[in-house]
Amino acid sequence: MRTSRTLLGLALALALSVIAPTSSVVGPAASQAQEAAVATVAPHRPRTTRRARTPRRPNSASIGFAFRGRLRRAVHLDESALIRHAGEYRAGGNFYGTTELVGLLERAAAQVSRRLPGARLSVGELSRQSGGPIPGHRSHQNGRDVDIAFYMLDGAQHPYDPYAFAAFDRLGHGITPNESLTFDDARNWELVARLVADADARVQYIFVADTLKQRLLRTARRRRAPSRVITRAEAVMVQPAHGHPHRNHFHVRIYCPPGDRPACEDREPYHAWYPGTPPARASAAEDAAAASD
Ligand SMILES: [Zn+2]
Repeated sequence: MRTSRTLLGLALALALSVIAPTSSVVGPAASQAQEAAVATVAPHRPRTTRRARTPRRPNSASIGFAFRGRLRRAVHLDESALIRHAGEYRAGGNFYGTTELVGLLERAAAQVSRRLPGARLSVGELSRQSGGPIPGHRSHQNGRDVDIAFYMLDGAQHPYDPYAFAAFDRLGHGITPNESLTFDDARNWELVARLVADADARVQYIFVADTLKQRLLRTARRRRAPSRVITRAEAVMVQPAHGHPHRNHFHVRIYCPPGDRPACEDREPYHAWYPGTPPARASAAEDAAAASD
């Protein structure tokens, strides 16, 4: 008797589990509509597994030099909860980079937000979809350069999303007409730290004014950053000898991804973290041209 009651229960449970999906209030048409709605809101970021979170991307190809080059199968840097396009550069639409550069920016923005939540990374221009010259830049030609606004705070010390890049003096105060803004030492340092420590995209340059570089290194020591990271940051942060002093943004360049070489060409300096074997030495003139923004 006892056994047959258990069997009956089992049979009932089985029957219910078979019936349940078809008798659900959400019919096939409704669930299709739901899927479509979800797809409209979040095209390629299903949140089920860790793997699914990384969007599948084309194998981009960076060709030539940063100052004379092209870009194939470019990846668009999308806006997100952590990244925004600075308003001034929106119309130009030059937000294309190599797979490596776009991934680097996404990882860096996520890391800064994890450590110091509440701000978005404001990004200026990367490259055109097919690369080549962009007005106002010498480089940015093959998807390996990006201009990034500094993280900044408003008068109430809240993160501020700028329309355009804002310049800061050595004390971290905004320069006219941005006197109410402050250079966000902690977030800007975390950004630099994450950029230089990335394993997939190796940073060659971060152009930034020397006064701000010194502020960032002081912040790094105060925050007890690992000495390995400070050494790298000290090596890659450079105020360009000629032209723009970079008091209002970081210009970041990554080395050619190994898979894109030798069509993709680097120039000195080759830091210890250069991926693979550095190419033969180029002329000093070409090195100088390569060290431009
Ligand atoms: Zn630049």
